Amino acid sequence: MTTTFSKIEAKPLPYSYQALEPYLSEQTLIYHHDKHLVAYVNKTLELIQGTSFADATLEQIILSADGALFNNAAQVWNHNFYFEQFSPQAQQKPEGELLQAIDTAFGSYKKLRERMTAEALSLFGSGWVWLASDAHGKLKIVSKPNAGNPLTDGLYPLLAIDVWEHAYYIDHRNARVEGVNALWNIIDWKIIGQRYEDILSQTK
Ligand code: MN
Repeated sequence: MTTTFSKIEAKPLPYSYQALEPYLSEQTLIYHHDKHLVAYVNKTLELIQGTSFADATLEQIILSADGALFNNAAQVWNHNFYFEQFSPQAQQKPEGELLQAIDTAFGSYKKLRERMTAEALSLFGSGWVWLASDAHGKLKIVSKPNAGNPLTDGLYPLLAIDVWEHAYYIDHRNARVEGVNALWNIIDWKIIGQRYEDILSQTK
């Protein structure tokens, strides 16, 4: 049911380290991508050595592993997906079929933003807030603790908000709301819309 078959790697950022300033700083990207994500990649590779997962894709691991292996593998998937959704020239609003689905599920794009931001603020501790689609294109907001990912619920991720402190602490210290609000400026709805089109074309 997964839409992709990913390698266990840290994908290179599709923009420069300074490109998302002032919304995401160079320092945050250096630590978040080059330190945190790379550590999750290295730990996953270490954990699968000599096991039945040695040749598995990231999605196969996420759908069948648990414990430390699930946590590290899901964090690799989540972060690659997260970094790819940003752009310095982000399309600021959803359009087309995705916008229609957002209006149907949440009333408006503004209400979707408000609800996702509220979920991000109320998620206790570390985790992720996702916008996901089911196989029929119906949208849901899904909050997950720690490394959680909607793929394990049979859903298709569209957009991810990382609410681990490492995602915002360098730029905003304890102010998670500022970190989340900054992201709305760089989330590229062209990319999210393309993800939605891919899901619809694969599940029809
Ligand atoms: Mn993170």
